[in-house]
Amino acid sequence: MDEYFAPIHTYQVCNVMSPSQNNWLRTGWIPREGARRIYIEVKFTLRDCNSMPGVLGTCKETFNLYYFESDRAVGSTIRENQFIKIDTIAADESFTGVDLGVRRLKLNKEVRGVGPLSRRGFYLAFQDIGACIALTSVRVYYKRCVGVSRNLAVFTDVVTGADSSSLVEVRGQCVDHAEERDTPKMYCSAEGEWLVPIGRCVCSAGFEEHRDSCVACEVGFYKPVAGDGLCGKCPQHSHSETRAAVSCPCDSNYYRAADDPPAAPCSRPPSAPVNPISSVNGTSVNLEWDRPLDTGGRSDLQYSVQCLRCSGESPCEDCASSPAVVRFIPRQTGLTEPWVTVLNLAAHSNYSFRIVSSNAVSHLSNEPLQFSVVNITTNQAAPSEVMAVRQENTSQNSVTLMWHEPDQPNGVILEYDIKYYEKDHEDQTYSTLKSKNTSALVSGLKPGTKYIFQVRARTSAGCGRFSQNVEIQTGKAVPLRYNTMTILWICMGLVSGLVAFMAIIICRKRHCGYSKAFQDSDEEKMHYQNGHVSFPDARFYIDPHTYEDPCQAVHEFAREIEASRIKIEKIIGSGEFGEVCYGRMRLPGKRDIPVALKTLKAGYTEKQKRDFLAEASIMAQFDHPNVIRLEGVVTQSKPVMIITEYMENGSLDSFLRRHDGQFTVIQLVGLLRGIAAGMTYLSDLGYIHRDLAARNILVNSNLVCKVSDFGLSRVLEDDPDAAYTTSGGKIPIRWTAPEAITYRKFSSSSDVWSYGVVMWEVMSYGERPYWNLTNRDVIKSVEEGYRLPAPMGCPAALHTLMLDCWQKDRNERPRFCQIVTVLDKLIRNPENLKSMDTLCSLNSPPLMERAAPDFSSCNSVDDWLDTIKMGRYKEHFAAGGYHTLGHVVSMNQGDIQRLGVTLMGHQKKIMSSVQLMRAQVLNKSVPSVHV
Ligand code: AMP
Repeated sequence: MDEYFAPIHTYQVCNVMSPSQNNWLRTGWIPREGARRIYIEVKFTLRDCNSMPGVLGTCKETFNLYYFESDRAVGSTIRENQFIKIDTIAADESFTGVDLGVRRLKLNKEVRGVGPLSRRGFYLAFQDIGACIALTSVRVYYKRCVGVSRNLAVFTDVVTGADSSSLVEVRGQCVDHAEERDTPKMYCSAEGEWLVPIGRCVCSAGFEEHRDSCVACEVGFYKPVAGDGLCGKCPQHSHSETRAAVSCPCDSNYYRAADDPPAAPCSRPPSAPVNPISSVNGTSVNLEWDRPLDTGGRSDLQYSVQCLRCSGESPCEDCASSPAVVRFIPRQTGLTEPWVTVLNLAAHSNYSFRIVSSNAVSHLSNEPLQFSVVNITTNQAAPSEVMAVRQENTSQNSVTLMWHEPDQPNGVILEYDIKYYEKDHEDQTYSTLKSKNTSALVSGLKPGTKYIFQVRARTSAGCGRFSQNVEIQTGKAVPLRYNTMTILWICMGLVSGLVAFMAIIICRKRHCGYSKAFQDSDEEKMHYQNGHVSFPDARFYIDPHTYEDPCQAVHEFAREIEASRIKIEKIIGSGEFGEVCYGRMRLPGKRDIPVALKTLKAGYTEKQKRDFLAEASIMAQFDHPNVIRLEGVVTQSKPVMIITEYMENGSLDSFLRRHDGQFTVIQLVGLLRGIAAGMTYLSDLGYIHRDLAARNILVNSNLVCKVSDFGLSRVLEDDPDAAYTTSGGKIPIRWTAPEAITYRKFSSSSDVWSYGVVMWEVMSYGERPYWNLTNRDVIKSVEEGYRLPAPMGCPAALHTLMLDCWQKDRNERPRFCQIVTVLDKLIRNPENLKSMDTLCSLNSPPLMERAAPDFSSCNSVDDWLDTIKMGRYKEHFAAGGYHTLGHVVSMNQGDIQRLGVTLMGHQKKIMSSVQLMRAQVLNKSVPSVHV
């Protein structure tokens, strides 16, 4: 009975009383079946020798386990000594006999392993040497690792190794539709366990892993490459019709570019670019457009531009066939940004541009490329460069030059300018002469001297570029032998030369009555050949009041703009006729631009409307970067509006007041130069402004000043600074020349006077001219010869120019073109702006007593700073220990900087006031300054 009282069969022996026992029990032949190591599990009971009396010395508590290998059953022929001992086995548990009448067996289980075995089979044998023992079971087995699937590889059953520590390497086979990544391997341990998996398989393209196997992608899904990934849904505009798809072909009319990955959606060519805009500038055009509405689902959008020149009836031709090479910036094809600038077009010509959009699948489609068309007409432009200048004839004193007309004259060539100078004196002076045809005789040259010549063409649109330098040497002088005849000829020549010289001097005197230190020496060199004197374009401004119906004038000069094209955004000021607003205007095919809108308030009379629109008629005739540009008018709907370019910084006077002291002198001179250039243009057209003042100059965001305010009635009505004069008109007294106030004699020269006052306003950052003097006192003082003093920090050269503008005799005043020249020279040579001592102008009347603030009335540093409008630095002065004006008068510029006055303009303003105060202290009664 076993421990559960179930009957069992046992092999027993219990010869404990007899000595020298040697009893054997042997198994039958056991085939090995591939096992290399076998295990023998023996279950047995063993009686404790102590529990049995009288067995001492003969009773044993162990038995021996043996094996014998053979290729077949050899049975009883095996001798005892042929068996190999595996182990002596002792019981963990032995029993002592009958316990309380119940026989309790203690079953032992012992396992022994043996290997390596190599024969086809073996026997086991148990040797008893005198124990009381019962074998209840013997189990013989071997171990193997059971087939598994790991990392998508199948590992089949394998028998363990021969030693207890040996590992058997097993290679796995990839499951169906999988492929090896790294050779899959595992090791089978002696215990029959799989160890150390290495390498793996992955599902092939078109298959994905599902529970240790690879299953096909469903319809509509695909897997492009073998790997761990799952099947993906077919990308947009593609499909798969069978299972296990490795790619998804595109739907019809959709394509994949050669280097698109299979996961990329299928795409198609883009639609045409939209909203093409052109802005023509002379013979170049800037084209811009918006992206196509349909990019075809791609981001590699590109544009190319085809250029066609169209003239008259004949079909348009490719621009590439024109003689001058049309240039595209940045390039003609492969554009990634939606713009291109096209240069070198012919003037006054029609062009058609096709803006083509494409992407990397455009060439796969049979559809034609989509494009937008922009038609333009180029404007006038200066002629192109004169080519092939060559010498035709050279003598000791003259050179005859010839050249070709420019490739692109861009209009009728009025004349050619020939510029020449001695090669070795290039930096000094050059001379020019003019010719109406393509040759010229340049005379009056030095013998045996190298000269450089350049030629350029001029049309009504302006001058072209000078040609390349041409170097020509005049012939060497040959000693002359004089005879009476020669001497006579020389004398005649000298006399006629003298006469011609006198004539030129007289002409020049009339032409340019202004001759100051800064006058450009280039002008002196100008001379004319063969009577070819050039006149400026005979274009004059037309007074709209000469029209019977001034409204007709407005439509003749200004373009009508549909009100729907305008969006009013805010009010920025108020004019005589109504509000001035900021808004945006969008014309067909153009970008929207910021504009200023002058409105005519409701309830206007017909006369008011005429006067209001007269300003537009005037403005429309002007086209200059320093004159406010008219965009158009709205007269067909209400409110009636005048639309002009928008000037971000508003009027100059308030702009300067807002930025008091913040600009360098050069910047201020730059502002003045712009105003003078605008006035040169207007005076050349014969337009007299009559109300030139800083308040009527507008400033844009680039600090460009533009002359504005062209209303005819504004001098009478609009200008708050205008006052009635004895002659009945209303005039802005402080800005107006005496002859205009007294006799209403307005001219470009009276505008020059006003310009001088504008200069003063600019240099004093918007100070009121003549401060708080009454109009009557202003007229009186000016009449008596007093003039405004130099504003603080104003360079002497500029004040001298102001004084010249305020010459009593209007013929003595400079002309606007000369003012521009003087200012240009000052800008080029800023050291001339350093001196603060006013040079006495040749013709200037006595200066007005320095009407600048009289500091004798200032009792404290704070008072003084307030007077010079620098009150913001009171604390700086106090902190620096400058408590009295006595301290202040001895300051220098470094002291002012050290106080923390960082703005250059403010430093100058304070410093000049200190200097002025110092002068007053020296010249006047010292105590009045409270030293
Ligand atoms: P006006 O009636 O021309 O004197 O204009 C009245 C005010 O509107 C000016 O002083 C400016 O402040 C403003 N203004 C007029 N025209 C423009 C413009 N084109 N751009 C910006 N502001 C302007």
